[in-house]
Amino acid sequence: MIKIQNLNKFFGDKHILKNINLEINDGEVISLIGPSGSGKSTLIRCINYLEEPTSGSIYINGKNIATSGKEIDKIRQNIGMVFQHFHLFPHKTVLENITLAPILTGQLTKIEAEQKAIDLLKTMDLLDKKDVYPSSLSGGQKQRIAIARSLAMDPTVILFDEVTSALDPEMVGEVLNVMKELAKTGMTMVVVTHEMAFAKQVADRAIFMADGEIVEINRAVDLFEHPQNPRTKEFLSKVL
Ligand code: ATP
Ligand code: MG
Repeated sequence: MIKIQNLNKFFGDKHILKNINLEINDGEVISLIGPSGSGKSTLIRCINYLEEPTSGSIYINGKNIATSGKEIDKIRQNIGMVFQHFHLFPHKTVLENITLAPILTGQLTKIEAEQKAIDLLKTMDLLDKKDVYPSSLSGGQKQRIAIARSLAMDPTVILFDEVTSALDPEMVGEVLNVMKELAKTGMTMVVVTHEMAFAKQVADRAIFMADGEIVEINRAVDLFEHPQNPRTKEFLSKVL
């Protein structure tokens, strides 16, 4: 379970996240929507400590990530993140991209990591790509590899930051399908997305953020069909 308490983030004197309180249950899929600059990326980057909160606390399975000292690396290993621009290692093959972290952290032996990578590649229908380099993959394939790499660490939660935004339209579906399947397995997911159909249909709950605040949070279907806050209504009227 993820528990965020009174989280504030400043960049210089700019107040970017304003007193965020949020609990995310195990197995829950949360979609995070809102205008550009509202703080969506900053919020999920705080969850895995890519950004240090200015104040407040974030607990992952009861452990405060800010006060865990050396333990923070261990906690972060349980938090997967997938980015808009893939961030694959260009000089490593697909298989090496997926096996690197579990081997380096000692979570798996090389043989175990390779077996796991092969299993993941099979489920992504990408086993034939295992020995190629990322540059020879399509955007949709790169993103599915990035998701497989994240899964190789057996994360308790995966954070997705606009992972389909850089893709050609015909590749968006294949990545969303992988995410839908993942949601069905009970993975805890926080998904920042502009894909409103996905945000509504796949997520359990949806959050609308604006100006660094959680303006509205509700069951995803209800947030989209019966938005309560005028700002949510206005945003949805523009994007739907
Ligand atoms: P988008 O939909 O465009 O990705 P977002 O909701 O993810 O937007 P953030 O990237 O979290 O928004 O940015 C929130 C605010 O914080 C913006 O005003 C942005 O300019 C500012 N910001 C983000 N990162 C930094 C940084 N490293 N230094 C200074 N300001 C930053
Ligand atoms: Mg962003």
